[in-house]
Amino acid sequence: MIITREHAPEWARFTARKPHPLADRKARGRYNRALRSRGVPAKSCSHCYAVKALSQFNKNSGKPDGRESRCRECHRAANAQWYAENTERQRAYAAWYHKEYAEKRRAYVARWYAEHTEERRAYMVRYRAENPDKERAKERRRRARLHGADNDGWTDSDIARRAEECDAYGCFWCGSDPGEDWHRDHIVPLSRGGSNRLENIAISCQPCNSSKWAKIPYEEWTPPLAEEPA
Ligand SMILES: [Zn+2]
Ligand SMILES: [Zn+2]
Repeated sequence: MIITREHAPEWARFTARKPHPLADRKARGRYNRALRSRGVPAKSCSHCYAVKALSQFNKNSGKPDGRESRCRECHRAANAQWYAENTERQRAYAAWYHKEYAEKRRAYVARWYAEHTEERRAYMVRYRAENPDKERAKERRRRARLHGADNDGWTDSDIARRAEECDAYGCFWCGSDPGEDWHRDHIVPLSRGGSNRLENIAISCQPCNSSKWAKIPYEEWTPPLAEEPA
């Protein structure tokens, strides 16, 4: 390791009032030229004054010795500081810009929407048609929020996976094949404090779903499978 001023212990900073012998630009130049003329691949850094191997200085073909005057370490430190100061400045500028142009931006967005109403509508219709699963999940999340219900964001693929795991694809209430138009039934209805978590969701056929509606099963509504055989 090369000892620099920064490494000097506290007492040394107070006792050594004398400036670094290579702090003077001309003296440093003389010293570095002397090293170069003797073929020593080292020089003193213009920032920390430490004498380091030339490999510790970045290349710069514009300089007489082909190297930067600051050592890599000082270069890195300066870069880091510049970057920190600039991100601060940039952030401040972005905040100012955001505030300054909030009104204009709002107006622009409003105008864009007004001019593209038809396109937007067509896009939304197409999106809903192409992503029925996502749309339904969104609607359920909205309803769950409305009831303040717990929500784990399940989708049809979660139901499909569970059905596969349990080998149970039929209606949870009557056991029949619910067909294409199967319902996602909240076992304890949202309106009765049920959650919108997967464990509260059952595959249901359309008749069972509309017969059960917002009733609590086994208490206010008897599922066909639980009915006494006649
Ligand atoms: Zn340095
Ligand atoms: Zn059913």
